[in-house]
Amino acid sequence: MDSRLIAELIVHLGRSASLEGPGAGLTAGQWSVLRYFDRANRFSRTPSAFAAFHGTTRGTASQVIKGLVELGYLTATKSKSDGRSVRLDLTDKARAIIADDPIEALVGAADALPPGGRMQFYGLLQRMLGHVAARTGKPLFGTCETCSHFEGSGCCRQGLQAYECRLAKEVLLEQELDELCINFAPGPQGMSGPGTKPK
Ligand code: SF4
Repeated sequence: MDSRLIAELIVHLGRSASLEGPGAGLTAGQWSVLRYFDRANRFSRTPSAFAAFHGTTRGTASQVIKGLVELGYLTATKSKSDGRSVRLDLTDKARAIIADDPIEALVGAADALPPGGRMQFYGLLQRMLGHVAARTGKPLFGTCETCSHFEGSGCCRQGLQAYECRLAKEVLLEQELDELCINFAPGPQGMSGPGTKPK
């Protein structure tokens, strides 16, 4: 089996899904932005983090983000600690259309895989993502529970918070554990890629 065929197929699959259907009249690039900010945690909701995730330039990312702010799909809030950086959040208008995301065609294709095959496929894609990140030197986005900076078992001992990020030195809420983070560093349990694990 020629590995190039696998690589080309993955790229083709991603492109086919993102071009399928102009949901809500948005471009594939605009959908990528909304999808990212829907999944990113509070440490990663910046234009530069999106640019790193999407493999684009900061200038290009800022242009698309600016357009979505003007259309009312994103709000930009200046950071309290650093007045030069902004945090982007989805608006109610964006949340109302997120189910129309053209990527749903790809979600349906994943749903159609046999359950055992889905878990295996997920693991293989994670490994490939790790290889690509190591080779390109780009950040490896992932989620808290398999991150080396993650602290906590979910068990609330008196006077202690259940979850914490040792890097940011901040308490994490349970609902944040499955969000994408630019500061992710794989822990001993392995790597978590940019998606919720299939059930
Ligand atoms: S524990 Fe890791 S993934 Fe979670 S917020 Fe901290 S750096 Fe990010």
